[in-house]
Amino acid sequence: MMEGNLPEDLANLSELDEKSLLEVLTGRFTQNLIYTYIGDILVAINPFKYLSIYEKAVSEGYKCHEKKSLPPHIFAVADRAYQSMLGRLATGPKNQCIVISGESGAGKTESTKLLLRHIMELCKANSQLEQQILQAFGNAQTVMNDNSSRFGKYIQLRFQNSSVKGAKINEYLLEKSRVVHQDEGEQNFHIFYFMLAGISAEDKEIYGLLDPTRYRYLNGRFGQDDIVQTWRVKYAEVCNAMDMVGFEEQGQFGVQEEDLLKSLTCTTSMTRGEAIQRLHNQQQAEDARDSIAKVAYGRVFGWIVSKINELLAPKVDCDVELNEIGILDIFGFENFAVNRFEQLCINLANEQLQFFFNHHIFLMEQKEYKEEGITWDTITYKDNKPILDLFLTKPIGILSLLDEQSAFPQATDRDFVDKLNSKFKTAPNFEVVRNHTPLFTIVHYAGKVQYNASGFLEKNRDTIPANIRELFINSVTPLLSVLFAATISRTGTLMPRRAKLQVADDNFNSTRKQSVGAQFKHSLAVLMEKMFAAGPHFVRCIKPNRSKQPDQLDSKLVMDQLRYNGLMETIRIRRDGFSWRPTFREFAERYNILLLKPDLPMDKSSCMSILNSTELSGWKCGSSRLFFKYWHQEELARLLETLGRA
Ligand code: ATP
Ligand code: MG
Repeated sequence: MMEGNLPEDLANLSELDEKSLLEVLTGRFTQNLIYTYIGDILVAINPFKYLSIYEKAVSEGYKCHEKKSLPPHIFAVADRAYQSMLGRLATGPKNQCIVISGESGAGKTESTKLLLRHIMELCKANSQLEQQILQAFGNAQTVMNDNSSRFGKYIQLRFQNSSVKGAKINEYLLEKSRVVHQDEGEQNFHIFYFMLAGISAEDKEIYGLLDPTRYRYLNGRFGQDDIVQTWRVKYAEVCNAMDMVGFEEQGQFGVQEEDLLKSLTCTTSMTRGEAIQRLHNQQQAEDARDSIAKVAYGRVFGWIVSKINELLAPKVDCDVELNEIGILDIFGFENFAVNRFEQLCINLANEQLQFFFNHHIFLMEQKEYKEEGITWDTITYKDNKPILDLFLTKPIGILSLLDEQSAFPQATDRDFVDKLNSKFKTAPNFEVVRNHTPLFTIVHYAGKVQYNASGFLEKNRDTIPANIRELFINSVTPLLSVLFAATISRTGTLMPRRAKLQVADDNFNSTRKQSVGAQFKHSLAVLMEKMFAAGPHFVRCIKPNRSKQPDQLDSKLVMDQLRYNGLMETIRIRRDGFSWRPTFREFAERYNILLLKPDLPMDKSSCMSILNSTELSGWKCGSSRLFFKYWHQEELARLLETLGRA
């Protein structure tokens, strides 16, 4: 271990290489110190066990504290965001955003909850109920995580001065395909299990629900008695949370909840798709059934989000200025055995976030040099702008080409990949794959990912045949009727039907709307605009092992995450720049001994005398501090040592 100490801020290490970094993080982790700073980035390693660091007494301590006075903590990040929003810290934008990243199971959602909790405590408000509802409908058990978020979200807390007035949630890319298909070891969304376990016998009868094992959407599997019991409790909790949050509106509530349940049960129980079967053969009927289930679930989820947003909307006069703290909890970079359209969107989002991160880290570095009036050689870093351009450029980016092909009813996924191959064969981040399956490879910042384009065009179009839509609009279930008659925009608000552009489709006579890719591109652009205008805070979550065990840290796994999380790059930027920046006082206090004059004044001229007495070169002098390369500290230590021996 490095001198037996475990620094709280890795930016203060003189040796910023992979090995020493890993040593410090491991050493801290074994002592249950799961949080560490790298400058103002918080690294959080998932402990997979209860720690007493979240108790009330601890969170009290982090209210309005000085950063250096307490150990690194997620509460400290919440506090800084809050204080910055109030303008109590350094100057900068009032609005703040907290970006939480990491792979599945790394602890993003738990971090989000802790951030929310602390911010709510700071302004003496309460509410975690919305989270509970969203998690029931949007989370599922996966191989990676027992409570994996299958959607991305940006929670914006809105403040008037220091008190929270409301919130707004944007959801991104709910994994709708999970409703109809789950891979081995995975489950459907929690709510299906909760509901089937918790619903009363009468209601079960009313909705025509069958024994859970008879549902193919649950792969014919349910749980053991003890787990069913916990699901039953969860069901009651979710229903209760929905009551509390206000899903119940003056006695209409029962109806709405029942409708909601009915809409869910309809999707699961529609195993024969009767209404449609008349028109299609069995395969088509099955596809239609699956697409209805996905669309219906997606719309129910969108409806829940829009409902929560209505309920949480700030109730203030429109001329009151509100400031925001946004918290982004979105899927990490994904690279599976087979990568589909969903992975492409998720990885594009991560590419965009990495760009945001680079931009910020790089700017921060430049800003300080500028403030201190020193000149420096331009720092080079791995800019991922070319990859973003590959996706987003108009009219020839991947998403535009996908839209172009999606507009032709006859076009196939193969045609799309052929187009990509011809346009991008020489592009540095694209690789042609020769295969009869429509494959292509993108070299992402975090590594190469091979995509299988089968199903891309259909997923991008995401249309429902008009006759099915009509069927639902005329449904006796009012909620379904509303959901299918309206368009739920990606931002979670219900838009009236006529606001939608309607174009008759030659083949299906369905309603043409904006493609999924185009919608996603748009919501990403809106999000980025917000984030670039805000004061950023970064939380990098790390998963210590794949088996979800406490007290185990797999060095290779952690190292891989540090690399693709951009932390190694951050450290490199720091190292190529001036990683050690003591103030004149700090420097003079420590090294005046080199001149054998302990009574020197702690100012710039003394620092110059000390430094000129050595052979050190390559350092810079700013207006309030000195700038050193990482190796300077070692050279100075050697000088002190020599002096000590003499
Ligand atoms: P996904 O991308 O799949 O949604 P995630 O990054 O959101 O994953 P979480 O659901 O937040 O991961 O965390 C996974 C599990 O790890 C939690 O259910 C919890 O058991 C444990 N965990 C995470 N953070 C902590 C923590 N700070 N203390 C204790 N346990 C934690
Ligand atoms: Mg999550």
